[in-house]
Amino acid sequence: MSEPSAAPMPVPMLVQMLVIGGGPGGQKAAVQAAKGGWSVLLVERELALGGECVHRGTIPSKTLRESARTWSRWKRLEGREANARAELPVAQLMRRQAEVRKGHESFLARQLARNGIEVWRGHARFVSPHEVEVKSPDGSLRRVRASTIVIATGSRPRHPAEVPIDHEHVLDSDSILSLIYLPESLTVLGSGVIACEYASIFAALGVRVTVIDKGERPLGFLERELTERFLASFERQGGRFLGKRTLEGVEVDPLGGVRAELAGGETVTSEKVFCALGRVAQVRGLALEAAGLAPNARGLLEVDRHGRTAVPHVYAVGDVIGPPALAATSMEQGRRAARHALGLAEATACEFTPIGIYTLPEISSVGWTEREAIERLGGARVGRARFEELARGEIEGERDGLLKLVADPDGRKLVGAQAVGEGANELIHVAQMALEAGLGVDAFADSIFNFPTLAEGYLVAALDLVGQRAKALRAAG
Ligand SMILES: Cc1cc2nc3c(=O)[nH]c(=O)nc-3n(C[C@H](O)[C@H](O)[C@H](O)COP(=O)(O)OP(=O)(O)OC[C@H]3O[C@@H](n4cnc5c(N)ncnc54)[C@H](O)[C@@H]3O)c2cc1C
Repeated sequence: MSEPSAAPMPVPMLVQMLVIGGGPGGQKAAVQAAKGGWSVLLVERELALGGECVHRGTIPSKTLRESARTWSRWKRLEGREANARAELPVAQLMRRQAEVRKGHESFLARQLARNGIEVWRGHARFVSPHEVEVKSPDGSLRRVRASTIVIATGSRPRHPAEVPIDHEHVLDSDSILSLIYLPESLTVLGSGVIACEYASIFAALGVRVTVIDKGERPLGFLERELTERFLASFERQGGRFLGKRTLEGVEVDPLGGVRAELAGGETVTSEKVFCALGRVAQVRGLALEAAGLAPNARGLLEVDRHGRTAVPHVYAVGDVIGPPALAATSMEQGRRAARHALGLAEATACEFTPIGIYTLPEISSVGWTEREAIERLGGARVGRARFEELARGEIEGERDGLLKLVADPDGRKLVGAQAVGEGANELIHVAQMALEAGLGVDAFADSIFNFPTLAEGYLVAALDLVGQRAKALRAAG
């Protein structure tokens, strides 16, 4: 009896650029290449485009945050602090997220279509350095050969061995969005950006939140002056931070609740646990070895400054190459990689990339912090504007807001800025542009800002610096 003949190999489609992954990094690489006149195919294994950013990350968390902010503001302005959780229309909050996601996804699909980019649904895996096989949801196989390939497969939540994530009692950042009711209490493991964003959102929604971390304070990579303001606000919402703790395990109690066990015998019991202990690059099932590639010891793909991997026609962008792992930076990396592949002039590097954290209240930073300025320049002057002293801050009931302008020891050259408080992530771009343009402190001191605005804080902080300079002059005789 003769052997059954193997299924015929599909004839590969030929394109100039293949992009694997339809998140922010992949989309922008695809659009840039198409605008440069290349034929482009984008492969996405999920039914919807947009990646983690649109479906489980940036957009849904920021939509939920907006609802929590509106809710807590309303409570504050109405003077209603107690027992508000029970009145919350949670299903409506979650529905709103779905609407926002859908709107954004349809915009992305239109943008790809407008630029003539073909999209295949399916899981991509390398079969050789230039060829990729795509398995469609119906199981059929297709192949594509490309002269340039961009890997933009993103990241997924890290699941530490000691945390049994079951997506019901113990959640990660993907499953937390599927809650259909608000738990009475929530333990958050970790105190990085995602941990603190969700911790403050749920605290504002009336959930009793406990954050546990090995660090001494939440968001430990930020200046203490900023994190103290965040913590004060979080604690006022009923949140609790347990620092310098070592997590030993998590147990789901059959009688209800989940227990986080800490070194020294301490335990914290809550209705749900949210694990936010980092993310890992998504390279599973890509068969990187067929392309001649391997992730590094941290599981990330290494690239040069153009986004090129060790195999020069294969680029990697976004979360799969590691920090800063933001939607904003992933998009820029995608554009830059495509420009390089097209042989176009490099866009000027953005020297001042801001950090934006969507906790309640927001925290943002650009350029040097006070400590960095002291380390680099031997000293620094700092001008401050507290939101409670601004008319707009008073109107908004903003108690924790602060804008800091960091200047050189003379108090003239602007070297950085930080803001905490509502609107901080928008406000910081004024400082970013000033830094890019090389504007000094006096440019703010001599300007007229709309009144009443939070941006007026720039004037107030700059005048603080001008006042310090005058005082120093008087002291010097
Ligand atoms: C809770 C949360 C909040 C966040 N908030 C912010 C924020 O406020 N601001 C900000 O800038 N960033 C934020 N981020 C980070 C941001 O979402 C990511 O940095 C960004 O989505 C990374 O984009 P990417 O294109 O690298 O990957 P992703 O968005 O992860 O997209 C990767 C895509 O590749 C697809 N894929 C993977 N493997 C394959 C394969 N083999 N074949 C086909 N397709 C594949 C995936 O299905 C996915 O759609 C947040 C993230 C999280 C989790």
